[in-house]
Amino acid sequence: MRNFEFYNPTKLIFGRDTLEALRNEVPKYGKNVLLMYGGGSIKRSGLYDKVIAHLKELDVQITELSGVEPNPRLSTVHKGVELCHQHNIDLILAVGGGSVIDCAKAVAVGAKYDGDMWDFLERKAVPQAALPLGTVLTIAATGSEMNGGSVITNEVTQEKLAWGSIHAYPAFSILDPVHTFTLPRDQTVYGMVDIMSHVLEHYFHTDGNTLAQDGFCEGLLRTVIETGPKLVEDLENYELRETILYCGTMALNGMVSMGFAGDWATHNIEHAVSAVYDIPHGGGLAILFPQWMKYNLSSNPARFRKLAVNAFGVNPEGKTDEEIGLEGIEALRRFWDSIGAPKTLADYEIDDSQIGVMADKAMRFGPFGNFRKLNREDVVEIYTMSL
Ligand code: NAP
Ligand code: FE
Repeated sequence: MRNFEFYNPTKLIFGRDTLEALRNEVPKYGKNVLLMYGGGSIKRSGLYDKVIAHLKELDVQITELSGVEPNPRLSTVHKGVELCHQHNIDLILAVGGGSVIDCAKAVAVGAKYDGDMWDFLERKAVPQAALPLGTVLTIAATGSEMNGGSVITNEVTQEKLAWGSIHAYPAFSILDPVHTFTLPRDQTVYGMVDIMSHVLEHYFHTDGNTLAQDGFCEGLLRTVIETGPKLVEDLENYELRETILYCGTMALNGMVSMGFAGDWATHNIEHAVSAVYDIPHGGGLAILFPQWMKYNLSSNPARFRKLAVNAFGVNPEGKTDEEIGLEGIEALRRFWDSIGAPKTLADYEIDDSQIGVMADKAMRFGPFGNFRKLNREDVVEIYTMSL
């Protein structure tokens, strides 16, 4: 293992009827709240009314920023920063999925920065402070509710970049599985693909002695594999939603990834696709991850073998590591097919015309990937394999 420090300041409030925790949490931060949400799902589900009712009881001043896009945009971040200044905001409350939370994180650091917060994504500056942020999560997917990461799309330059800061961790996050009941089947699937992809990004590392961490990761994957097919047939099942919601947070809050550096190349490759075509993050990962795995199988077959046997139940008898690893990749593909995840870029009507453009975007900060460094030609090959 590498030496490490672990610190996660987010208070996680998990379970049925936990929205009531707003009453205790919100007054800690002040009177002026910026309520951020997406395109209307929280209004249709009734969650918006419940949040407003709690806030009204607390007698706080509410400013709203609605319409945060899936793949949240820099122009929306700018609107949020402006509102924070105009209304002297004390707390940002993000109610929604990873997109709303990521956007709220960007607003939180942007409000405490004199320049354009895009500087943080271009690595020109590092956030030094943020407004406090609380979240009410409505989709199990990103883990953004308990990490310091965020992904923002600059729609003018067509770039989708990730950034992170210790200042961007939510102060508190409320997770009630019931809030995810209304999530449609396709978004439920994208969320589960994202969760599994986060675990896989962790799993493909080259550091030594991570027996316990490997076991945590394999356990999370087995749990999603067991639960996912039942959930897509029974979207309002509390226990199934609860299991996936827990997995989503654990997959990317640092708990299973102490002491090593994961790969994260596939996320980078996917962000470049989303930047150009604005497709759902989980949908893109479902297409790209198996191809990244095939492309890299020969560089460390033993690692792929371990994953195949422990997470996908592949029988290793009489086979080489590479054969076992390939069976594991095929099992992942079959699993994602079985729950209805996309398989090729053609599923989103994406052809080869922008591969060069996407590869250039993925190379924004040079060669990347910790399991195996990828250059531009590697990225082009993975996109081509994904057509
Ligand atoms: P999302 O983009 O936040 O939401 C996807 C869609 O689901 C939206 O149309 C949203 O509608 C709808 N929705 C959400 N909750 C719902 C509910 N309970 N009922 C009905 N509809 C609901 O999805 P996400 O996968 O959580 O976030 C994706 C973004 O996060 C991407 O930009 C991705 O790159 C990023 N990401 C971040 C991290 C991180 O660590 N920060 C990690 C991975 C990916 P409304 O807009 O109407 O609410
Ligand atoms: Fe992700």
